[in-house]
Amino acid sequence: MTAPTIDRPVLTDATLDEFARRAPVYDRENRFFSDDFEELRKSGYLKMAIPKELGGLGMNLSEVCEQQRRLARRSPATALATNMHIYWTGVAADMRRMGDPSLEWLLKEAADGEVFAAGHGERGNDFPLFLSTASAQRADGGYRFTGRKMFGSLTPVWTRLGLHAMDTSDPDQPTIVHAFMPRDTSGYTIEETWDTLGMRATRSDDTILDGAFIPDRYIARVLPAGTADLFVLAIFAWAEPTFGSIYMGIADRARELAVAEAQKKTSLALSRSMAYHPGIQNAMAEMVFATEAASAHVRKVASDWSAGVDYGHDWPMHLVAAKHNAVEAAKLAVDRAMSISGGGGMFKGSELERLYRDVRCGGFHPANSILAPEIVGKIALGVDLGEQPRWG
Ligand SMILES: Cc1cc2nc3c(=O)[nH]c(=O)nc-3n(C[C@H](O)[C@H](O)[C@H](O)COP(=O)(O)OP(=O)(O)OC[C@H]3O[C@@H](n4cnc5c(N)ncnc54)[C@H](O)[C@@H]3O)c2cc1C
Repeated sequence: MTAPTIDRPVLTDATLDEFARRAPVYDRENRFFSDDFEELRKSGYLKMAIPKELGGLGMNLSEVCEQQRRLARRSPATALATNMHIYWTGVAADMRRMGDPSLEWLLKEAADGEVFAAGHGERGNDFPLFLSTASAQRADGGYRFTGRKMFGSLTPVWTRLGLHAMDTSDPDQPTIVHAFMPRDTSGYTIEETWDTLGMRATRSDDTILDGAFIPDRYIARVLPAGTADLFVLAIFAWAEPTFGSIYMGIADRARELAVAEAQKKTSLALSRSMAYHPGIQNAMAEMVFATEAASAHVRKVASDWSAGVDYGHDWPMHLVAAKHNAVEAAKLAVDRAMSISGGGGMFKGSELERLYRDVRCGGFHPANSILAPEIVGKIALGVDLGEQPRWG
């Protein structure tokens, strides 16, 4: 299988080869992809979703998905962590295109080299963005934030942490405050908690907010808890297909490795390679059935968003379904690739061994694999996501 070609690749094949060479080292040493990050910075990759007139490459969601898939094929953790920055710029760019320039400052700052990260992950909250275990308290000229944010990819390099917290000063009408915290803010600490199964080079450490003051100019939205507007929808629109594409990139690589392994592997009982074994052919077919469908699905949803198709209230269903299918197909692909490879795939030096761990992380991203069926099922049934009680 040849690697998919894309229009306007931002990174050269030689750069991707370097990323692929470093990926196992970052993984083994559990350290941030610093050298990759500098390459991404230099190449303009971090600016690909910023409109051209503001100094970026002007790529839409569809184009970004293809770039991210290509990068993830060689270095999944690098693509995943970088995605947090890229999706913020995509959100701001699309809002501006749709007539809401309220985040134009973000695009200008990103064009000037600021690095954006996502501080949404929280313990005890499976409904990120809509609810929060962190608190926001109104203060003179801004808000004070207190709480613990976990899984913060890009922790070593972010300069603006996009986060949300709940303002319960009116208990009858709690609001969610969305903000971007500059790195030089006082009142927060970073705790290095990141020692995980997969996606290790993302360095997704915890940030503990202890009354961190964020001025009004960095407050992006104040919305009634449990509700969404264009800002929240655009986060889902950029996060879900890009996550899905990253995991499809892992599947692309698993397929390549499986083909190479099947063609190389022999058995005393066969006259030719294991590619002629019906069991291997079946496993390969299962991989192709799942990934071809999921790949088409995630591409369609990304291109519909980029083309401005109006699915109205059904958008979250389409976005979440595409990400869910892509991740599940990628998990299956890596699993079958491991079966085809045989025991060699489980050795620490095997790329498949790392992909097997990395791909397992896909179901934890919002909407996680438990929440996704709830969102999709409720929207398909006409049940409002904010309705209480949540079930029954
Ligand atoms: C590789 C990777 C990178 C990610 N990067 C980002 C990112 O950059 N930004 C972002 O916002 N999100 C990120 N996500 C995080 C994601 O949004 C989820 O928050 C994350 O997957 C954990 O969600 P969970 O609800 O399954 O965690 P849980 O399993 O519920 O929680 C994880 C931790 O919290 C503890 N815990 C769980 N519940 C409680 C409780 N009630 N009280 C106290 N402790 C508790 C657990 O013991 C565990 O240590 C990333 C996820 C992955 C897999």
